[in-house]
Amino acid sequence: MKTVAVIGGGPAGLMAAERLATAGCAVTVYERKPTPARKFLMAGRGGLNITHSEDMNSFMTRYGGAEARLSSVIDRFTPAMLRDWCAGLGEETFVGSSGRVFPKSFKASPLLRAWQKRLAERGVALLTRHDWQGWNDEGALLFKTESGEMKTAMPDATLLALGGASWPRLGADGSWQSVLAARGIGIAPLRPSNCGFVVAWTDVFRQKFAGQPVKPVILSFDGTSLQGEVMMTQRGIEGGAVYALSAALRDAIEAKGAATLTLDLRPGVEKNELSRRLSAPRRALSFANFMRKHGGLSPVSIGLVRETAPDAPEMAPAKLAAHIKSLPLALQAPFPLERAISTAGGVRLDEIDNRFMLKKLPGVFVAGEMLDWEAPTGGYLLQASFATGVAAAEGILSRLSS
Ligand SMILES: Cc1cc2nc3c(=O)[nH]c(=O)nc-3n(C[C@H](O)[C@H](O)[C@H](O)COP(=O)(O)OP(=O)(O)OC[C@H]3O[C@@H](n4cnc5c(N)ncnc54)[C@H](O)[C@@H]3O)c2cc1C
Repeated sequence: MKTVAVIGGGPAGLMAAERLATAGCAVTVYERKPTPARKFLMAGRGGLNITHSEDMNSFMTRYGGAEARLSSVIDRFTPAMLRDWCAGLGEETFVGSSGRVFPKSFKASPLLRAWQKRLAERGVALLTRHDWQGWNDEGALLFKTESGEMKTAMPDATLLALGGASWPRLGADGSWQSVLAARGIGIAPLRPSNCGFVVAWTDVFRQKFAGQPVKPVILSFDGTSLQGEVMMTQRGIEGGAVYALSAALRDAIEAKGAATLTLDLRPGVEKNELSRRLSAPRRALSFANFMRKHGGLSPVSIGLVRETAPDAPEMAPAKLAAHIKSLPLALQAPFPLERAISTAGGVRLDEIDNRFMLKKLPGVFVAGEMLDWEAPTGGYLLQASFATGVAAAEGILSRLSS
């Protein structure tokens, strides 16, 4: 029986383990944390968005520069197949109003419980508290166990599914970079993806409005506009709509040092109509009360207007309306990688062959978020993590049989 070491017990690693065990391999999953799939469980906290229902052409465009490479992989493990797999584990899925797909329970924990039971039944061994350190001089895998004792393994094939570096307390922290770089593997720098951004708020704004959402709001950057919600935080802004534009904003900041996001704080009202409403006599109303009554703005939106245009109370109605409809917000930097939902960068795709094996390390395969691709939230991250796990498992099987 061929032996395979899967290192990293997240969605990519566990999916590969299932495929390999089903095909008759003796599989051991090595996981550094006391339990596997902690990020997957965390993803389930706010509703596990496991994939998306949009047509496949649009779906594939979500992977940007990695589209060509990932589309053949997702063609072989499609969103429909992922949904069937969930159903097979007793977790039917449904399509939400936005086209996103969720398990009916909304959570990851029932799915993971059923999955771990299936993996155990198929003979997959799970060794937790095994922290992979690299290889020893004999080419054996090296693991540090909880007691500090070092263990080795010499499987017929190895899959690295170690994740990116966001939310490191959940297990994936990018520590694999130095091990692979020392072996000459090209790694695109790990960067935050689906992240918030730093804004230089005044103390007054921060104290009054941190923790408050602005909604509905239309965000625009570089020709792309979308409606959603933006959360004001102590250090800047966060939220789904911000995440959706985050790759372009991050790249612009990297290239130019800053980026300006444009906010429409009154999506439902045309600029001319807003200007007309703001032409009403102010009488004894304070600026804030006037903006609330005639502009229809919430306190936090009024705060944003004043924050970006201290002279707003003196502005002519047309100018004020124009500012509300396209409010410029200067973003200084992305939030750090530790706070991002996911990671951009990773093992460069030209370092792996079409079986997902490292060209410079025959017998060692790579899957999941540690590869150099990124995608917005919406189920695309998990879909690609699962699909690359399947592809790497197939790659391992083809190598072991040849
Ligand atoms: C808060 C949050 C919410 C999210 N929500 C969604 C969502 O709704 N939909 C979606 O599509 N995506 C979501 N994601 C992203 C998704 O969870 C990840 O893309 C996915 O988990 C990546 O899978 P992976 O198997 O590649 O890596 P991971 O899930 O990160 O798994 C890697 C595993 O490897 C282990 N490991 C790392 N290094 C070592 C080592 N040296 N030795 C041994 N083990 C090691 C880690 O402990 C970890 O268990 C969310 C992410 C976060 C942080």
